[in-house]
Amino acid sequence: MFDLKGRVAIVTGGNGGIGLGMARGLAGAGARVVIAARNADKSAAAVKELAGRGAEAHTVAADVTDERSVARLVETTLDRCGRLDILVNNAGTNIRKPAQDLALDEWHRVLDTNLTSAFLCSKAAYPAFKTAGGGKIINIGSMMSIFGASFAPAYGASKGGIVQLTKSMAAAWARDNIQVNAVLPGWIDTDLTRQARSQVAGLNDNVLRRTPAGRWGVIDDMAGIAVFLAAPASDFVTGAAIPVDGGFSIQG
Ligand code: NDP
Repeated sequence: MFDLKGRVAIVTGGNGGIGLGMARGLAGAGARVVIAARNADKSAAAVKELAGRGAEAHTVAADVTDERSVARLVETTLDRCGRLDILVNNAGTNIRKPAQDLALDEWHRVLDTNLTSAFLCSKAAYPAFKTAGGGKIINIGSMMSIFGASFAPAYGASKGGIVQLTKSMAAAWARDNIQVNAVLPGWIDTDLTRQARSQVAGLNDNVLRRTPAGRWGVIDDMAGIAVFLAAPASDFVTGAAIPVDGGFSIQG
């Protein structure tokens, strides 16, 4: 039910943070993993780590905001691995400013990286999924898919949009045996949130106080949900938005 042997997965932004945690899970369940990101050194290190765990891993340099780069990513994956079964739309960024201070190009950068990228990658993967007889798309939302934050207008819009994009693609592609789901991580210790901790006063204390589990998540907390949503175990789960948050979203 959770066996991914023979399956091929692309993980965007899989060279660190949540993407790497998910890549570890998928590789551990037997999938071949393609790490798609811009920083070649970080990607090479991630591939080396996955190979050290006995997995087959590849890296393809890709900018998920660029439609041609995304098309090359899928082509290269098919050339190297022969098929595509799983797509994790994880690449993301944030620019923390209230709306009155956010420039239009900053708005576009966040929306392009977090939301348009998921549309582009999913659209590019669709023909390969049809050929394979099905597929699994895992979109990464956020607690800001549910809640707002004064410092995150573009980020919140992008992560709210991810949930609605997930539902539309899930509805459109269910008859193609393609399941599309979103994961909404709570506060996970990564480069992105290390930066946030230094920029948002009181964030660390607020996260610890409000998270029932009483701790930040670690990237390996994201492995299990990735395996579930990539595996036959979730074949009747589609269009869902699943929090993985130590309980953050269940209490005010
Ligand atoms: P990281 O900063 O560690 O990872 C972000 C990843 O995205 C990097 O691997 C980066 O690789 C990649 N990336 C960014 N822009 C592009 C691009 N244009 N093309 C290709 N890859 C790109 O952050 P996290 O692991 O924390 O974040 C991963 C996802 O999880 C994001 O979508 C984020 O919004 C979401 N999330 C994180 C939470 C947390 O608490 N950490 C909570 C909720 C959601 P490179 O720079 O090499 O391109």
